[in-house]
Amino acid sequence: MLVNIPYYHAVGKEKEVFEHAYKNKIPFLLKGPTGTGKSRFVEYMAHQLDKKIITISCHEETSSTDLIGRFIIKGAETVWLDGPLTTAVKEGAIIYLDEIAEARPDVIVAIHSLTDHRRELFIDKLGETVKAHDDFMLVASFNPGYQRGFKELKPSTRQRFIAVSFEYPETKIETEILVKETNVDHDVAKKLVAIGNKIRNLTELGLTETVSTRLLVDAAKIIHSGLPKRLSVHVAIVEPLTDDLQTVEALKDLCDLMI
Ligand code: ADP
Repeated sequence: MLVNIPYYHAVGKEKEVFEHAYKNKIPFLLKGPTGTGKSRFVEYMAHQLDKKIITISCHEETSSTDLIGRFIIKGAETVWLDGPLTTAVKEGAIIYLDEIAEARPDVIVAIHSLTDHRRELFIDKLGETVKAHDDFMLVASFNPGYQRGFKELKPSTRQRFIAVSFEYPETKIETEILVKETNVDHDVAKKLVAIGNKIRNLTELGLTETVSTRLLVDAAKIIHSGLPKRLSVHVAIVEPLTDDLQTVEALKDLCDLMI
């Protein structure tokens, strides 16, 4: 049988740190901007450890009920339905709360007893406490963009995790990622990474988020599938970054010179 192994290129000691967090039953926090490989890394580690992974993309409406479970009407009966967190706690899966800081505050309250020595989940609607399966692991990510008005995580929550920062990989690794992910020419990959680095250094543009590895991968994909290079860079890198017309034009000119 063909098994699809998620491709992940390590940028530091994150694999070792994750393994030790798992072994010691300590929750794991991935910090960093969007598109830096956080989700890919968790998928990869789940595969390495042969664990099921349940991913929840948190947003401002995500509540503890969404995670823990709810009563639903089934025919003439009311039945209880476990939410994804309860399922992971019972089955011993890895739960990945992507962008945890975006969720409602009651989500943070709900996970507290799971993130310390108790490792238990209180299901308030049932009045029950569930002990976590030995293999259960809680993983969360967050984007520490506090200067840009993103939501913060309180120290009392952060200090329950082992935390690793994810940043844009160094040139050689990022080039390799583009080639591996998209089969694009090595030379084109190098140029795309150079564009990424150039724009990342233009801090005076005041972009909310700068060029992520994901944007570079997307550009490489459409170039590899045959779209002209300049157009690809415009639509995959420049346009998603900003709506400011002057900045868009300036970035397009810059990219045209570099691709
Ligand atoms: P995040 O969860 O940080 O927003 P993702 O994990 O979704 O980011 O990564 C976005 C894309 O970037 C992935 O689909 C993958 O193509 C690529 N990528 C980024 N970093 C890596 C890496 N270290 N190894 C392999 N692919 C990576």
